[in-house]
Amino acid sequence: MSDIQADRIARLIAPLRVPARAKLCPGQYDPGYTGGLHRHRDGTDLLERGVALLTDYQSRLAAQNIHGVLVVLQALDAAGKDGTIRHVMSGVNPQGVHVHSFKVPSPEELDHDFLWRYAQRLPGRGEIAIFNRSHYEEVLVVRVHPENLDRQRLPAESRRGDLWRRRFRAINAWERHLAGNGFRIVKLFLNVSKEEQRKRLLERIDRPDKNWKFSAADVAERQHWDAYQDAYADMLSHTSTPWAPWYVIPADHKWFARIAAAAVIADTLIDIDPRYPAVDRDGRQELLRFKSALDAESPGARHPRRAR
Ligand code: AMP
Ligand code: MG
Repeated sequence: MSDIQADRIARLIAPLRVPARAKLCPGQYDPGYTGGLHRHRDGTDLLERGVALLTDYQSRLAAQNIHGVLVVLQALDAAGKDGTIRHVMSGVNPQGVHVHSFKVPSPEELDHDFLWRYAQRLPGRGEIAIFNRSHYEEVLVVRVHPENLDRQRLPAESRRGDLWRRRFRAINAWERHLAGNGFRIVKLFLNVSKEEQRKRLLERIDRPDKNWKFSAADVAERQHWDAYQDAYADMLSHTSTPWAPWYVIPADHKWFARIAAAAVIADTLIDIDPRYPAVDRDGRQELLRFKSALDAESPGARHPRRAR
């Protein structure tokens, strides 16, 4: 890993990071931003290098077995969450990565506190977990559609006052606890424009191979576009913290979204800098003893006369 490469990644992602205590307005970030890169000149090469970097670092993360990484992916429909996961993680060992897609909560999940189901799916040490939707839905879809909150059957006192501020604080405290225990949190908001979403939903109708992806619910959710933009702006303003900052990934150009997402994850792994555990002198001696024992078992060694 050259310093130049690390520096390039850091410079690419810096403008995407949401500063702590920012007061964002809806629509403040440009979904069409490409950081001065050009698809044909930079696209494939950069993504390939990013993927190779992730592959190498993930293997070291697993070997070191001290840190875990949680990647949180949030977005409106058709912003490209699935494709991003597929491309960015294409090189990593499936044993070390788990993807969880969070759907409408089950009755069992609703019978617990709002962070319970997410806590069950956290990465272990040495692992990367990807949350396709996440605990942030608890201040997004639940806020835009309050009937979701009714289903959570909270006691009256828990609903009083500014429930969303309390949830932001609870989320920040939870993430700080995780960060303090060795779990890094990479939070990516894939920011798609309303017009690009419209085109992608149309494509799901027009292309037979994409029909399976079309959902009438996605079109219905578009009616709540502004409410979602408000909820996202408030959420990003309150939950981008020094220990778990948000990155707004411009998502109108899929090729750039994939490069940017890979770069943010790579930047975290570079910062962790996991190493293969080194073997000390005693360990080396022991390895050499095993080597002699294994050498002695070779067919040649067992029948030294015949070998001559
Ligand atoms: P998809 O990601 O397209 O498979 O859709 C999953 C659905 O689950 C979306 O409509 C989300 O809004 C919904 N969903 C995810 N998390 C929650 C939650 N915590 N409460 C209510 N609905 C949710
Ligand atoms: Mg969907």
